[in-house]
Amino acid sequence: MPADRRPLMPSALVLALATAALAPQAAAADTVALHCERLFDARTGKVLGEHTVVVEDGRIGSVLPGRAKLPEGTESIVLAGRTCLPGWTDLHVHLGSQSSPQSYSEGFRLDPVDHAFRAVGYAGKTLQAGFTSVRDLGGEVSPHLRDAINQGLVEGPRIFAAGKSIATTGGHADPTNGYNSMLSHLVGPPGPTEGVINSIEEARQAVRQRYKEGSDVIKITATGGVLSYARSGDAPQFRIDEIQAIVETAKDYGYRVAAHAHGTEGMKRAVVAGVTSIEHGTHMDDEVMRLMKQHGTWYVPTIYAGRFVADKAREPGYFPEIVRPKAAAIGAKIQDTAARAHRAGVRIAFGTDQGVGPHGDNAREFIYMVEAGIPSAYALQSATVHAAEVLGVDDQGVIEAGKRADIIALPGDPVADINAVMSVDFVMKDGKVFRAP
Ligand SMILES: [Zn+2]
Repeated sequence: MPADRRPLMPSALVLALATAALAPQAAAADTVALHCERLFDARTGKVLGEHTVVVEDGRIGSVLPGRAKLPEGTESIVLAGRTCLPGWTDLHVHLGSQSSPQSYSEGFRLDPVDHAFRAVGYAGKTLQAGFTSVRDLGGEVSPHLRDAINQGLVEGPRIFAAGKSIATTGGHADPTNGYNSMLSHLVGPPGPTEGVINSIEEARQAVRQRYKEGSDVIKITATGGVLSYARSGDAPQFRIDEIQAIVETAKDYGYRVAAHAHGTEGMKRAVVAGVTSIEHGTHMDDEVMRLMKQHGTWYVPTIYAGRFVADKAREPGYFPEIVRPKAAAIGAKIQDTAARAHRAGVRIAFGTDQGVGPHGDNAREFIYMVEAGIPSAYALQSATVHAAEVLGVDDQGVIEAGKRADIIALPGDPVADINAVMSVDFVMKDGKVFRAP
């Protein structure tokens, strides 16, 4: 707008707008200054002293040391006693569901719209916990939820959605596992449209189908999984040429590939074929770690899910009997694998697999990482700078001029005491305040 046409704004109106900006869901004010007592520098992993972060039109305008003096009338939010951090990213969630003893029967009773309504609540809890972005690794609700959030219709994190995971027949993410013969006969064998492939051609088709459905990233289930109604949790379930076809086709659309994997053979094939990240990685051995370092593959451990299912395996009736031994054996191992991988120098990024555990409790993964011997600063980097690198985006994950204004704050210093991550009480996404102390 040319300067000569700028309307003079009465000061009362400026004040009213400034106050409105503090309320959750308020429209982004033009300029807001955040006064942070401490600031987490995600690039160095250091906690800095007092800083002023100036937010303009949803982006970070400048980051100034101390309590900077700003033009009169600039709206300011004082975050006394708090550490400001870049909004966190959880690289492994499933916003369309949350496990319970009813999950298996609900597959037959619920409609997609039921999952969609639940997902709205899960997305809100995730954002309120400080996660301004998530990568949703499997679920048909999420591309639609992403659009509704981007349109401002519902509150939630920025979603990078895989849509339907790609599996092989009977594999983890074959949607008809556990069906009886009558039902199986009625629905017929699932194919690439449903995310099930058995050849190179079908692998390509399945990726193109995800493109058609609006996915942002591709997820494959390189080995069996814990919660699927199938016997093996770690058998390899793709031939290497099928994974290569998926990775190559994904590149045509600018997609990265995330591979769920528990067993070593499936992990090796996925890493060699060029996936971006290994999810869970339970039985990762020295050779897999060496290959991951060689290929620059990220590891997303999801310790939370491991501990959660190991816990629930002890609860009679929580899981079907075919699932229970897998949950007990695999779940208990992931935290130890994360510790070994970190010591070996495998790059780690943050993910919980929430939807297995309860949405909104995602930050507990930081505590589990620190328990595994991962330094708290590294754990916080795994959900900020590392996560942005895994996603392949350069406009988030750090508090710097020009980046998206995704900023959270919490009382205390999370590098000194990681338990502080459970107390997030300020959440800003794209310059909008969704939670204020
Ligand atoms: Zn998962």
